[in-house]
Amino acid sequence: MRYSFEFRPYQRKFKRSLLTSHGRWEVREGIILRLTDQTGQVGWGEIAPIAWFGSETLQEARDFCASLPEEITATKIFSIPSQLPACQFGFESAWEGLARQTSKVIPPQSFPFNGKDLFPTPVNRKNLSFSCSTHTYSYLLPTGEAAMQAWQEPWNQGSCTFKWKIGVSPIAEELRSFQQLTQALPAGTKLRLDANGGLTLKEAEQWLQAADQAGMIEFIEQPLPPEQFHRMLGLSAEYATPLALDESVATLRQLEACYQRGWRGIFVIKVAIAGSPKCLRQFCDRTPIDAVFSSVFETAIGKQAALNLAAELSQNDRAVGFGVDDWFDEDKETWLEQLWKHP
Ligand SMILES: [Mg+2]
Repeated sequence: MRYSFEFRPYQRKFKRSLLTSHGRWEVREGIILRLTDQTGQVGWGEIAPIAWFGSETLQEARDFCASLPEEITATKIFSIPSQLPACQFGFESAWEGLARQTSKVIPPQSFPFNGKDLFPTPVNRKNLSFSCSTHTYSYLLPTGEAAMQAWQEPWNQGSCTFKWKIGVSPIAEELRSFQQLTQALPAGTKLRLDANGGLTLKEAEQWLQAADQAGMIEFIEQPLPPEQFHRMLGLSAEYATPLALDESVATLRQLEACYQRGWRGIFVIKVAIAGSPKCLRQFCDRTPIDAVFSSVFETAIGKQAALNLAAELSQNDRAVGFGVDDWFDEDKETWLEQLWKHP
């Protein structure tokens, strides 16, 4: 089977810039792709790289798309090299979307995604129930003091898992804000702390002590940079608060390597940059890992494919890290059509 292939680059500006220990992020850029089969059915995919996190660059993804002919085959899609993990995800998920339609589950639509259409129809091989109501989302709080007010509205709407970036300001200041935040958050709330690899060993120990005392910390994400894997392995044995690897396991190849090296803590899987969904399924089938599935600030297209995969592969009840919609203005219902017709 041959598919005609088209793609369009997109840009989405964050409502407020996202501050992490990697710096400031203002605009999310990526690529939407469309596969059309010989009967006219279409499958959509999204390539949403984060080069500073370990995926290919946007330019590499664009060059790859531009290098392809107007018609491609499934063989081509499933042989995209692992150096292009976001492309692997984008193409395979478009192909899977098509395959799902041609199995007559979903009626064909030219532009099926609108800004409100964010809730997936889970494809669940294991018949696990997976609710996508807000309480299963981890809600990303703004960095620093702004978090003090920002949790209230999502909490009123049912969110009970929050994530807060640390390692951005001096630690004494952050620990003070942390005390205030944990005292303000209602009982039963879970808080995830994400250092993006930005702490020193001493700071990581301070944070772990504070987290152990606070008692509501679900995990600390990537306290140290990936090259300090053994230190994180040591810390994970010393403290009660679990650690999660994120930057260390940006792609499936890195995830497999960390598992081989003995990591049995939590793995954050950013599905849209992890690589081939087919290979990720194979890995998760043979390796029972404690995984948290997380957004890369993709559009509704990538999000739907990522959530489908998360629903299929989740082994536990951890909230998915997709509570990020209000970091962007709401998409118009016609955003995709507009992108396609007026790129
Ligand atoms: Mg993270």
